[in-house]
Amino acid sequence: MAQKNSCHKVNITSINSSGFGVCRIDGVVCFVQGAVTGDELEIKIIKSKKNYNIGRIEKIITPSQKRTENDCPVFKKCGGCVYRHVKYEDELEIKETIVRDAFTRIGHFENINLKSIIAPESTLRYRNKAQYPVKNENGRIRAGFFAARTHEIIPCEDCLLQPEIFSDITKEICLFADENKITAYDEKTNKGFLRHIYLRIAEKTGEIMLTLVVTGNNLKKSDELVNRLTEKFPQIKSIVLNINAEKTNVILGEECINLYGNGYITDILCDTKIKISPLSFYQVNRRQAEKLYEKAREYMGDTEGKIVMDLYCGTGTIGLCTAKDADKLIGVEIIEQAVNDAKENAELNSRKNTEFICGDAEKAAEILKEKNVKPDIIVVDPPRKGLTPNLIETINSFGAEKVVYVSCDPATLARDCEIFASYGFCIEEATPVDLFPRTAHVETVVSLVKLPPDDVINIELDLTKLDISINDGKTTYDQIKAYVLKKYGLKVSSLYISQIKRKHGLEVSESYNKSKKDNQHIPQCPKDKEDAITDALKYFKMI
Ligand code: SAH
Repeated sequence: MAQKNSCHKVNITSINSSGFGVCRIDGVVCFVQGAVTGDELEIKIIKSKKNYNIGRIEKIITPSQKRTENDCPVFKKCGGCVYRHVKYEDELEIKETIVRDAFTRIGHFENINLKSIIAPESTLRYRNKAQYPVKNENGRIRAGFFAARTHEIIPCEDCLLQPEIFSDITKEICLFADENKITAYDEKTNKGFLRHIYLRIAEKTGEIMLTLVVTGNNLKKSDELVNRLTEKFPQIKSIVLNINAEKTNVILGEECINLYGNGYITDILCDTKIKISPLSFYQVNRRQAEKLYEKAREYMGDTEGKIVMDLYCGTGTIGLCTAKDADKLIGVEIIEQAVNDAKENAELNSRKNTEFICGDAEKAAEILKEKNVKPDIIVVDPPRKGLTPNLIETINSFGAEKVVYVSCDPATLARDCEIFASYGFCIEEATPVDLFPRTAHVETVVSLVKLPPDDVINIELDLTKLDISINDGKTTYDQIKAYVLKKYGLKVSSLYISQIKRKHGLEVSESYNKSKKDNQHIPQCPKDKEDAITDALKYFKMI
C-alpha cells in the first residue's frame, strides 16, 4: 500500500467525473487533481486510505495530448472549474462518456440512442449569475468563491466564467464597504453584516440585478451606495437587500427589500420575455439554455392543441419557450416567487390558458391526476436529486404520449429512466448539452415514449423465450430491484433477493449469503421486502 508522502511514477489511465485523473499504485486506485488521461507523472501521496489514495502532481514527466495550459490563478483551489487543464474537445468527450456510462451502469441500458453533446460557441464568461461570499482579510473586505468541499473563501478578482462587469461591480462594493466600515459576515462566529454579493445579468437586455445578502435591514448609507453604483454602472436596474440572519450555509434568506428598481430584471430567452427575481431559478448559461430548450421542444413534438405539463417549471421558462401553440400549459413549482414570476411571464408574453401551481411536484401531480387532468406531453426538470418513484408512477398513470426529461445529474436521470422503462417507456433519444463548460456539470435531455401495449407484450414473450428463470445474472437482480422500487418504493439488496430466491427453491450463486467470517451476522430479509421480492419473482415468471 502506498504510504502518505511517498512518491511514485504513474500513468494516468482515465479521468473521473470530478475531473481527477485516475491511476493505480499496487492495484489501489489513486486520484490526482489536475491530471488527465495519458499523463505520465511523478506524484506524491497526500492521503492514503484503505481503498484509495489521493496524489498530488510533483512533476509532469510526459504531458498528455489532452492537456492544455490552465489559465486561471485559483484553479484547483476554487470549487468551480475542474477541467481547465483539459482541452475543451476532450472535456466534451469526457462528459459524453459520463452520460453514456450512467445509462449503462446505473440505468442498465445496453444501447441507447445518445446523440453528440451540444457544445457552446465559447467556454469563457458564459455565466449570468455569481454569488461571491465575502471575508475580512487584514481589515479589508474581499470577495471570492468557496473552495471545493469547504467554506473557506478563496479571493478571486476575476473569474473567467463570469462577465467582466461583475468583477468591476464587486470591487466597487468592497471599496464602499471598507470606506463605511461595513463588516464581512464570519460563519464561525455568526457575526458581521455582509454575507454575499449576488449578481445576475439578463444577457439579451443587458440589465443587471444586484442582491446584497446581509444579516440585518440597516445597510449603512444605502442611498449613497445606490447612487454610486447606478451612476458608475447604469446597467444596474435593480438593487435588493436579502436578509439572512440564520447560522446556515444556505446563501439566501426569504426576505427581500428593494433598494432600487422593481426587484427584478427581464431577459429574452427563445424569443420569450423572462422576468428574473433574486429567489427564482434561471439557467446560468443563457445561450446554451436556448439550445437545451430547443432540443426539448424538438423532443416534445407538435404541441398544437395539446395539454402540456411542465413539472419543476421555475419561472415557467421551458413551457413558455416551447409550447407556444399548446391548448393549455400547466406548470408546477415549489418556490412561490418563481411561481409568481411564471404567472407574470405568461402575461408578459400574452400567453392564454396557462396555470402555474405552487407546490411539491409529486403532490401536485397526484392532485391533477385526481382532477382527471389529461396531459399529452409532460416535461420534467428536477433538481439534482431527480424524481421520486411515486412521481414516476403518477406520470405513468397520466398516459401521456411523451415525457421529456431535462436533467442536471446523469446518475439520477439514469436511475429514473430505469424506473420509467419498467413501466414500458423507452428512451427514444437522449442529448447531453454542455451548459457548464470547464466545470464537472453536464445537462441531458431525454425523450421518453411509451411503447404501445402490443410492443410491451412482445417484450414479455421475448423474456420468457430467453428463460430468465435460469438467468441468475446481474440483469435479473437489477430488474427485480427496479420492479420492487417502482411498485413498493422499497430498496432491496442482492443479498435479500438471493435469500428469497433460495426460499422458493431457485438456484443462487454461492457467493450470496455466505459469510467470510464464521460468526458474522447476516441480515435477514424483512417481511415487507420478502413479499415485494416474491411478487417480483412471480412477475418475472421465475416462480
Ligand atoms: N425548468 C426550470 C427550472 C428548473 S430547476 C428552468 O429551466 O428554468 C428546478 C426547479 O425545481 C427549481 O425552480 C426549484 O425551485 C424547483 N423545485 C425543487 N424541488 C421541487 C419540488 N419538490 N416540487 C416542485 N418544484 C421543485
